[in-house]
Amino acid sequence: MLDAARLRADFPLLRQREHGHPLVYLDNAATTQKPEAVLTAIADYYRTTNANVHRGAYGLAIRATEAYEAARAKLAGFVNAWATEGVVFTRGTTEAINLVAGAYGRAHVRAGDTVVVTAMDHHSNLVPWQILCQEKGATLRMVEISEDGRVDLSDYGRALERRPKIVAFPYVSNALGTVNPAAQLARLAHAVGAVVVVDGAQSTPHLRVDVQALDCDFYALSGHKMLGPMGSGALVAKPELLDAMPPYHGGGEMISRVWDDHSTYNKIPHKFEAGTPNVEGAVGLAAAVAYLEGVGPERIAEHEQALAAAAIDRLTQIEGVTVYGPRDHRAGVVSFTYGDIHPHDIATILDQDGICIRAGHHCAQPLMRRLNVPATARASFYLYNGLDEVDALAGALVKAGALFGYVPA
Ligand code: PMP
Repeated sequence: MLDAARLRADFPLLRQREHGHPLVYLDNAATTQKPEAVLTAIADYYRTTNANVHRGAYGLAIRATEAYEAARAKLAGFVNAWATEGVVFTRGTTEAINLVAGAYGRAHVRAGDTVVVTAMDHHSNLVPWQILCQEKGATLRMVEISEDGRVDLSDYGRALERRPKIVAFPYVSNALGTVNPAAQLARLAHAVGAVVVVDGAQSTPHLRVDVQALDCDFYALSGHKMLGPMGSGALVAKPELLDAMPPYHGGGEMISRVWDDHSTYNKIPHKFEAGTPNVEGAVGLAAAVAYLEGVGPERIAEHEQALAAAAIDRLTQIEGVTVYGPRDHRAGVVSFTYGDIHPHDIATILDQDGICIRAGHHCAQPLMRRLNVPATARASFYLYNGLDEVDALAGALVKAGALFGYVPA
């Protein structure tokens, strides 16, 4: 396992105490804390390099542009993008998927076509497709999940018989922790001629991602879930698809020439980056990538799997606790309920011990319906969490249970 205590020292916020207790931050699937290296990169950018990018003829603006483009190259390398120009900076996964639905989807999906999603998709990989299908008169086909929270492969096969135009799924589920067999799902979808959109919000931070090995077509990620700044993220795509796509947002920077009544467009990726971009976000995200590379995605994945396994082991020993999702092929997300205690009550009680977990539907309401629960409590781990924090979680849960008359086993 990683030396979590040593890594934690890189994260200033984690030195804080909450209600008199050391802060135990277990809401990493929602957002992660930021290491000093990211904070410094952002501050340095503003102290030394800030100017608007791409348009400047002076040295400072050229250096700002270089910093922005170097960040793009850094991120491209991290996920083994097809090409650096195939990385479009966005506000995060949500905007990246809306870009694909709004530009690629609008141009290619017609009445009677099918778009496939899964029952474990986050709303941000579902609602954009609902909007597209409603607009076009297309069918949205949701693939069911198995009892233990995996994509039901036979239902996936049935959905593919409709020869969908687009197939979208999460690499890792934010609500269950399931690691989907993304390369296999992509191969099957390509065999029927579909374009594959992977929601990488929960995979990019937690395991080694190689989009070329996955062989998807579009891959969305969020910077703030991988130690980077809020409002940073990207769409990583096959350049030839981006080239052929109409633009998404119109405005400055995405154009080549503008006449009174029409325009020609800039080359990719700029065609999809209208307006002044979040340069600080890109620079901070590149620093986050450097930090993650320094630790090593494989070691991060291994560490989180060990924490999740320990948490599942501890939690399932508490009578009345149900843990959702598969026991293997999972990441460091542990979703659970405790008898009839409302997950929000669990989160509020744990907060008194300085433990931050999430409670709710995790932006996956169709999934919650299938689990027959309105909400779950969710602990999600990252590289700076240790087994001591799993102990703190289990201990606080037992205390919470006692308040509600549950007796620990
Ligand atoms: N997909 C998944 C699987 C997620 O976990 C999240 C964030 N909870 C998103 C998409 C949306 O990401 P963002 O809010 O950063 O756009």
